[in-house]
Amino acid sequence: PQPNPQAGAAVKAADRAHVFHSWSAQELIDPLAVAGAEGSHFWDYDGNRYLDFSSGLVYTNIGYQHPKVVEAIQRQAARMTTFAPAFAVEARSEAARLIAERTPGDLDRIFFTNGGADAVEHALRMARLHTGRPKVLSAYRSYHGGTQQAVNVTGDPRRWASDSGNAGVVRFWAPFPYRSRFYAETEEQECARALEHLETTIAFEGPGTIAAIVLETVPGTAGIMVPPRGYLAGVREICDRHGIVLVLDEVMSGFGRTGEWFAADLFGVVPDLMTFAKGVNSGYVPLGGVAVSGRIAETFARRPYPGGLTYSGHPLACAAAVATINVMAEEGVVDHAADLGARVVGPRLRDLAGRHPSVGEVRGVGMFWALELVRNRETREPLVPYNATGEAAAPMAAFTAAAKERGLWPFVHMNRTHVVPPCNITEADLKEGLAALDAALTVADRYAE
Ligand code: PLP
Repeated sequence: PQPNPQAGAAVKAADRAHVFHSWSAQELIDPLAVAGAEGSHFWDYDGNRYLDFSSGLVYTNIGYQHPKVVEAIQRQAARMTTFAPAFAVEARSEAARLIAERTPGDLDRIFFTNGGADAVEHALRMARLHTGRPKVLSAYRSYHGGTQQAVNVTGDPRRWASDSGNAGVVRFWAPFPYRSRFYAETEEQECARALEHLETTIAFEGPGTIAAIVLETVPGTAGIMVPPRGYLAGVREICDRHGIVLVLDEVMSGFGRTGEWFAADLFGVVPDLMTFAKGVNSGYVPLGGVAVSGRIAETFARRPYPGGLTYSGHPLACAAAVATINVMAEEGVVDHAADLGARVVGPRLRDLAGRHPSVGEVRGVGMFWALELVRNRETREPLVPYNATGEAAAPMAAFTAAAKERGLWPFVHMNRTHVVPPCNITEADLKEGLAALDAALTVADRYAE
């Protein structure tokens, strides 16, 4: 594409004058004006091209502008751009069928939302109505969305400004061996102690007061902590014993990200409700939803479910989901993510960890990896303090700038960088990105001992 700095300047000027950006101090940001995107790359108006190791906000699982999905959206727009949710519409029916065929166990009914946060809102409402109980348990080091209930079950600083001391949310610690809350020295200890902690929390809260436990199957932005084998099965067993609804949030981990259709498949665990969004249609048109088990669907078989959205199951979004799921199946995207993760990403990141003093730990699966950057590998002191901003966050800003200079757009959160490219990235692009990451880490190393 031809550079066009003048056009870029106009886009930027209107943005700065009128767009109110999420999670940002409006005068302290400098958003890049993006001219176009294709596959795993995007480019600006000045002729700079970037390899997107962040998949947007970890959602373009099949990359940008997949021609089959673009065409499906165009066809649906020409045929039926929109239709109200009370009707049976082909794109909606077909999307629900394709999703239900892939969700684990008996999660066979799909409630569509516009994104992830409202999927979490509805899942928790369903759980409370199904059990008649008021409380929800959620984990520290989690993110569940920006709306009032979803942000109140969130276990990171994004909650603080909106925290209403929201009645009925109790937080607990999930396993994280690298920064164990349980003084564990092995994965087995971490797993057993985290389950014991959850069991005790439930005992002291009163099992009969708890409607749901909500967990990201593999926590995403909070750090990609793949749970120890046995943890989720243990949570499932605790939920069964106490009549608590298990909600797994697969908004980020679903649709191929972990090298399975859903991360729950890695562990053979079937939740009662499962939320999804992002990868369901690579975010080409906003869409999310809740996959509902037979038991919970039964609760609302003869009693109305008190909730809905004008755009629930929007035909344009659903047509994009149908095309995306078909593309993923036809092109073997899920297996590709598993293969590249195991064969390329894992070994190469472990190699980086061996060579860069700033890399404290590497962890992940499929196209879902985190590098924990530290000042000191012995003490595991993070490269920047928890929730640091401004000067205190300078080392991560320097790392980010170094990656961008090398044409790599990294995902960065607190003291971590995540390797979360599109699940259909080519092996050559992936290796090029990992080489740029290698070079950028030498900048992070300057802050490490
Ligand atoms: N749940 C998880 C695990 C997420 O990662 C996110 C977004 O990053 C959400 C929920 C919220 O989704 P949305 O931003 O579409 O509302």
